[in-house]
Amino acid sequence: MTTNHELFQRAQQLMPGGVNSPVRAFKSVGGEPFFTARADGACLWDVEGKRYIDYVGSWGPMIVGHNHPQVREAVERAVKNGLSYGTPCPAEVTMAETITRLIPSIDMVRMVNSGTEATMSAIRLARGATNRSLIVKFEGCYHGHGDSFLVKAGSGALTFGVPTSPGVPKANADLTLTLAYNDIDAAVRLFDEHGHDIAGLIIEPVAGNMNCIPPKDGYLQALRELCTKHGALLIFDEVMTGFRVALGGAQAYYGVTPDLTTFGKIIGGGMPVGAYGGRRDLMQQIAPAGPIYQAGTLSGNPVAMAAGLAMLELIQAPGFYDQLAARTRLLTDGLQAIADGEGIPFSTNRVGGMFGLFFTAGKVESYAQATAADTAMFNRFFHGMLERGVYLAPSAFEAGFVSSAHSEQDVADTLEAARGAMKAARAG
Ligand code: PMP
Repeated sequence: MTTNHELFQRAQQLMPGGVNSPVRAFKSVGGEPFFTARADGACLWDVEGKRYIDYVGSWGPMIVGHNHPQVREAVERAVKNGLSYGTPCPAEVTMAETITRLIPSIDMVRMVNSGTEATMSAIRLARGATNRSLIVKFEGCYHGHGDSFLVKAGSGALTFGVPTSPGVPKANADLTLTLAYNDIDAAVRLFDEHGHDIAGLIIEPVAGNMNCIPPKDGYLQALRELCTKHGALLIFDEVMTGFRVALGGAQAYYGVTPDLTTFGKIIGGGMPVGAYGGRRDLMQQIAPAGPIYQAGTLSGNPVAMAAGLAMLELIQAPGFYDQLAARTRLLTDGLQAIADGEGIPFSTNRVGGMFGLFFTAGKVESYAQATAADTAMFNRFFHGMLERGVYLAPSAFEAGFVSSAHSEQDVADTLEAARGAMKAARAG
């Protein structure tokens, strides 16, 4: 039998860190990743035959569970007609019609192949449309690995960016300003100083890449007003929150209308898909309708569109999001009760089918609070859960995801595992 360990040994010789995307390597939590052989419903099975109840869901796309028959069959039907055409295909039109119907702020849309592509394209459009250069992002928010986004804040409330990664030119990082999430006063000050040069502000409307941190009441609305006042575009990066926190995404959940929105994950049903869209006058500036260039050999791929459309069909079932939110609540309330019973400082956040777990007391509303939580405790808890057959995101700074395939029994089994894992984590 091939073991996880043997595969990881081979992989590390051949791929940086043994993986094709960093968090998968378990660097943050320590230990070695498992290699998945198959996935179905709420579960993954590794190459050694061990089953895990999965709260990562391929990092978000699997909102109806793994290997859903309707998504799989749509893909199988599409595959029979060829894998890629390089010409327009009917499914792209249906996809654009579906997105524009479900998301009222989007008049026109362009399909791409990843969330990273979507955000890179959206800021190019923001810069091209406003004829301005500066982009504002938030410390702890992730928008893919484009140069403009690999920038974090220095000390102080506002500052010119410093690159987080070697290889991002300083000249590029200088064009990205960073702010503390959920601090509206800092945003007002930044716009007072630089507003006339700001092309756009990009935000995860529920932050999901520094654990899970919802916006404070009125925060997104205030950012909307600030952008309008200064002629900057408001870009919601809904790669994670889109079709996750509500059918209409975070913009529907919080009732705030962005100028541009980016998508990924769920919209592709598990295939490599992203999208960006927004107001017609803006999207009309994208090539070939307008002068701002963006393209893709495989964009709008017929097989990927079939998967995405099947997924978007399933999530429109009546009551889908109520049930998802209720299941998520069952999980987070259950975990909180266990931690409280054990006297372990712990808190949770959740919006729709998205949640965060923090080993700290009190509500977490900021990046500073999230990074101050006990990550060593999280890492022990993560491994305790893994041993007991529950797979949480392998980092204290990632959101978790519940799918409609997670049954009440799955949640009950997860809580049973958590009872043991919390005790073990506290023991050290
Ligand atoms: N934006 C957000 C909010 C994300 O969570 C991610 C990925 N986790 C991305 C952009 C980048 O998407 P991708 O990994 O598909 O490039």
